[in-house]
Amino acid sequence: MLVIFLIPSFLFPLGDASLPLVINTWPFKDATAAAWNTLQSGGSVLDAVEKGCAQCEIDQCDGTVGYGGSPDETGETTLDAMIMNGDTIEVGAVANLRRIKNAIGVARAVMERSEHTFLAGESASVFAENMGFIAEDLTTDKSLNIFAEWLKGNCQPNYRKNVIPDPSKHCGPYKPITTLQQDNRTSHINIHSHDTIGMIAIDQAGHVAAATSTNGLRHKVPGRVGDSPIIGAGAYADSSAGAAAATGDGDVMMRFLPSYLAVEQMRAGADPTTACKMAISRIKRHYSEFFGAIICANTTGHYGAACNKAPSLSTFHYMVADSASDTPLLKSVNCF
Ligand code: ASP
Repeated sequence: MLVIFLIPSFLFPLGDASLPLVINTWPFKDATAAAWNTLQSGGSVLDAVEKGCAQCEIDQCDGTVGYGGSPDETGETTLDAMIMNGDTIEVGAVANLRRIKNAIGVARAVMERSEHTFLAGESASVFAENMGFIAEDLTTDKSLNIFAEWLKGNCQPNYRKNVIPDPSKHCGPYKPITTLQQDNRTSHINIHSHDTIGMIAIDQAGHVAAATSTNGLRHKVPGRVGDSPIIGAGAYADSSAGAAAATGDGDVMMRFLPSYLAVEQMRAGADPTTACKMAISRIKRHYSEFFGAIICANTTGHYGAACNKAPSLSTFHYMVADSASDTPLLKSVNCF
């Protein structure tokens, strides 16, 4: 039986340092356990992050990872995922993946069965089918219900702008208006509309891998790709420095490559908590109320996290497993 202990991270400003290490965003403990067990049974760090994210895809973590969540404007669920090998700096990523439940598996196939880094949309799904992944409907009663409620509520929240009819009051179809109006975007993003599993694994020898998987943002415009599969935004790994993985308002966060920034800060000597905070601060300068968090770990097994204090986020929870605990621990950090 899996036991979880909640440990406030202020007790360990630098985090515990112990390898191997698995760390992931949000309290997705079964994903942590899947990754940890993979490492314990001799799997590589890539196997660990793949298995961890795949567990969340199966469990439909929070309804925001895997099938049956975050229907877009047409009611369809599409998936984004990426995996990164910190030794070789190889990456596989998929975005706007349709019909395939195991997005992280497809991301790994992109990395290992093509010379490419990133496949998107319908063609990514065809690639996946060719590689033996099963095509299935990603719709569930729950996602149909979320979609029906959205239609009933005049398609709110809505991510269109500068179109008619007024997207803050009416459903589409939309046409562009001729004069662009000032962007007074009020974020519709909150803790309920999206999440991502972002995971880092580091083994005893210092091999580092990172991965992400998500179904993105509820009611997104079809074709929208979030930050999660974007290299350096959703996650980044480099076995000579460490790794980071982000979650939150991907449309804003991807503009700052926060995971890459955090890894570069660790390379320059910052401890993981400081590196995480620097990445959040960079975004905050432009979007003070953005919804987002990041986890960071360096190659010595130190780790940390940071989040932006927003109306719906004051504390961010994440999971850690390492040899000191040998069981997934729930950690929390106060947002700043
Ligand atoms: N970052 C993801 C996206 O915008 C969602 C999340 O992590 O909450 O697609």
